[in-house]
Amino acid sequence: MPWVSEELCTGCGVCVDECYASAISMIEEVAFIDETECIRCGVCHEVCPSDAVRHDGERVPEEVASNLAWAEELLEHEYYSGDSQKREELYQRLLRYFNKNKKVMEKSIERLKLLWDEKYEEKSED
Ligand code: SF4
Ligand code: SF4
Repeated sequence: MPWVSEELCTGCGVCVDECYASAISMIEEVAFIDETECIRCGVCHEVCPSDAVRHDGERVPEEVASNLAWAEELLEHEYYSGDSQKREELYQRLLRYFNKNKKVMEKSIERLKLLWDEKYEEKSED
């Protein structure tokens, strides 16, 4: 999912004009991409003269930090203070939750590859 760096965006509006899906709007002179409308065509990356449209992968450290902050906030919640068993149970629950998300993504990748092979990959004629 592309996203716009507020620091780099100059508000020129080129991406807004070029987006086929009309997924980009200007909010206070900074481009904003509506991920529910975006069709992942990548054009905004190509047309931005300021390199302000960034790739999803760059957000991995930020998303990991956000997950960790959330987990730590729960582990520090007063409900668990002074009860190491409850806190340990929460820790295990959090591990299951992150593992479940990992499995969903792994399965999704697996199924997408199968879909691609079955439906979209051009078969050779020989
Ligand atoms: S990837 Fe394509 S559809 Fe999505 S915001 Fe960029 S130009 Fe628009
Ligand atoms: S083309 Fe780049 S600099 Fe211009 S509005 Fe879009 S993201 Fe911002």
